[in-house]
Order: sequence, then structure tokens, then C-alpha cells
Amino acid sequence: MNGLIKEMEHYAEANNVPIIEKDSAEFIKKYIKLNDVKKVLELGTAIGYSAILMASTKDDVEVTTIERDEKKYREAVKNVNACELDKRIKLVFNDALDVNLVGQKFDLIFIDAAKGQYIKFFERFENYLNPGGVIITDNLKFHGLVKNKEAIQSKNVKGLVDKIEKYIDFLKGKEDYTTKFYDIGDGLSVSFRKNDENVKTID
Ligand code: SAH
Ligand code: MG
Repeated sequence: MNGLIKEMEHYAEANNVPIIEKDSAEFIKKYIKLNDVKKVLELGTAIGYSAILMASTKDDVEVTTIERDEKKYREAVKNVNACELDKRIKLVFNDALDVNLVGQKFDLIFIDAAKGQYIKFFERFENYLNPGGVIITDNLKFHGLVKNKEAIQSKNVKGLVDKIEKYIDFLKGKEDYTTKFYDIGDGLSVSFRKNDENVKTID
């Protein structure tokens, strides 16, 4: 298992796949244990790295994860099978905004797909949260660029950074949710419903 994780890290490095940073993965694993999370929904599988880390936190974690890029999806299928986690990780090949999950509920929704669509993802998937559930969002610093906008040359990148800033404002302004922001890895947020006193947060 550890060997397979290392191989995935090398593959990600060599192929420019933006997998989760180690500190962020540790944070999420800690959160899963603390709140006894069982059902996870992940938007943005890439090669399955974060899904595999989440599913291996404890034996009763089930992950549904969505990826729209076929090459990455295929790589994820390979990795999940190699780790023998295919019974607990369900890989969905589709655009997250087109997936219908009616009837399913999750304790943790991990938003880690296209950074320009974060508000849409939140609004579409918050209905799938169990009571006591949380939405964790990755890459709120967007590789440090959110704090360093002047240095950005590309219009596309600047557009994405603007969208991440809008998402942060959206979270701060959301009256029915409390969001905690963490300066961990590439920046994480944890959002839960205001009337959910059960949620145990990490300082
Ligand atoms: N969670 C992974 C990294 C995901 S990288 C890990 O930490 O290991 C982001 C992924 O989201 C990319 O592979 C990209 O193809 C995918 N993606 C972006 N927008 C998407 C969408 N709308 N639906 C599904 N997948 C999407
Ligand atoms: Mg990420």
C-alpha cells in the first residue's frame, strides 16, 4: 500500500497532476476520525490519490468520487484496484455538474475539481449533506496566487484567482453556514450548517 501511494506521488509529479498536499490529507484524515465520517463524496478524483487516502483512514469509509477526464479516470481505476479498495471507492466518470445522486447523503463532501466552478459545486451538492456533515474545499490559496495577484501574467489564471476570491466571499456571506478557513497545504475550508452543533472542528 505505501509503495503504491509513493508510485502515485511520482506519477503525479511527472505528469503535473495537482494531488492534495500531505498536510491537507492529514487534516482530512484527522477530521474523518474525529467525526466518524462514513460516506464521502469527492468532486475531482484525478488519479485517485486523495480518494485512496480518505478510504484508508478506517475500514467503514466509503467514497464516491467524480472525474470528467478519461485518462485520469482510467488511471484512478487502476490505482484503486491495485490498492484493493474497489469495494469502498466508487469511481464515476462524468462531469460533476451532470451527476445525479438523488437519494444519497454524505458526511463529508470534498470539493477539489475545477476552481472556477466552486460556487456551483457548493450550491448543487449541499443538498446531499447528512445532518452533521461538512463541505471541505481545497486549494483556496491556488498555489499561493490568491495572495500574490500582481505577479500573475496570464488572464486565465487571473480569472481563476478572481473566482476563488468570489468563492471565499460567498462562503463568508453564507448565512446558513459557518466556514472555518485553514492555512494548511494550499488552503482549506470547512463549512457546516449553523444549526449543526454536532460537528467537531479542528483548531
Ligand atoms: N482530488 C485529487 C486531485 C484532483 S485535481 C487528489 O487530491 O488526489 C482536479 C480534478 O478535477 C482534475 O482531474 C480535473 O479533471 C477534475 N475536474 C475538474 N472539473 C471537473 C468537473 N466539473 N467534474 C468532474 N471532474 C472535474
Ligand atoms: Mg486540490
